[in-house]
Amino acid sequence: MSINEINAKSILRKSKKIDSWFVAQYGMNLYRGCTHNCVYCDGRAEGYYVEGEFGKDVTVKMNAMEILKRELDPRRKRKPFKKSFFMVGGGVCDSYQPIEKKYRLTRHSLEIIHEYGFPVHMLTKSTLIKRDIDILKKTNEKNKAIVSFSFSSVDEKISSIFEPGVPTPEERLDTLAFFKRNGISCGMFLMPVIPFITDTYEKIQETIKRAAEVGIDFIVFSGMTLKTGRQKDYFYNILKKYDSNLIDKYNKIYKGDKWGAANRTYYELINKRFSQIAKRYGMPRRMPVSLFKNILNENDFVIVILEQIDYFLKMEGKSSPYGYAAYSISKLKKPLSEIKEHLTDIKGVGSVTERIILEILETGSSSYYRKLAF
Ligand code: SF4
Repeated sequence: MSINEINAKSILRKSKKIDSWFVAQYGMNLYRGCTHNCVYCDGRAEGYYVEGEFGKDVTVKMNAMEILKRELDPRRKRKPFKKSFFMVGGGVCDSYQPIEKKYRLTRHSLEIIHEYGFPVHMLTKSTLIKRDIDILKKTNEKNKAIVSFSFSSVDEKISSIFEPGVPTPEERLDTLAFFKRNGISCGMFLMPVIPFITDTYEKIQETIKRAAEVGIDFIVFSGMTLKTGRQKDYFYNILKKYDSNLIDKYNKIYKGDKWGAANRTYYELINKRFSQIAKRYGMPRRMPVSLFKNILNENDFVIVILEQIDYFLKMEGKSSPYGYAAYSISKLKKPLSEIKEHLTDIKGVGSVTERIILEILETGSSSYYRKLAF
């Protein structure tokens, strides 16, 4: 393993539109590279330009705290920060990979974010996050904190092969239970499920059942992407040793799509499977509205609900105009409540979407959303 200490130019990443999966507008990578070394990790793909050997080498942004403080300082901002969760984790590193024990960048960034009064959404696979219960509790009381863990299943043996550097699924579930006991809302990112290995009916059911037993608040689901090049080569090497008969099946669903996506039929199949089981267990399939209701401004609130509606419809293999409407709303300069009479002038907003938006603005929810969600 080699550690490369660098000075970064910037830390915060602002999305053009609120990310409705994490309900976050801002994210950050404090490290580059990840010694958790999950076999399916797309951080390995060439497009992310992670230096060194992925899984072994890590770059540490030594001046991250100084830059973060500067970026969060309201006196230096022409436009104030939008209220949303700050996403800590995901991308090309796990913020709680072992090196965090020494550098404590995640810990210090949480302290700074708390000082500036923003909510946080943590995503990790590491139990090291328990170390930061004090600051996460304080943030939760003042601004809100959510702790999410990612899983590909709760099968210990499969995890030891495909996620060799992370705590076992049972340890991750125990950590989620710990945060729940401490009053913090928790999510599971069941992503990616590994084709023909953890995407079966039995494996998904087993995972949702355990999540429900722990009292997890929501599960976000997604299939795996496999980009041609380093990511696919590395994955296939391990897959061959695991079960070489699967290679043919993989070749049939991964046909070299630019983003590494599998074919549509496959995703539709597993999405329907997941939705069916999640509904049976009464498990929300996106972050429930109650967890972000008082955090977002009204336009972002509407965007997230419309995108969730879009997601639920697509999970059932249906088409939907709501994603495009949400995108158009993200371009507006004015609050929706100021242009209530002219909503259908927004691209992609017809009379049905108009009714949904008005209902959300008036009641803070949508009956159509509730019908699809549960
Ligand atoms: S923990 Fe996340 S970032 Fe790290 S190797 Fe696994 S999938 Fe990649």
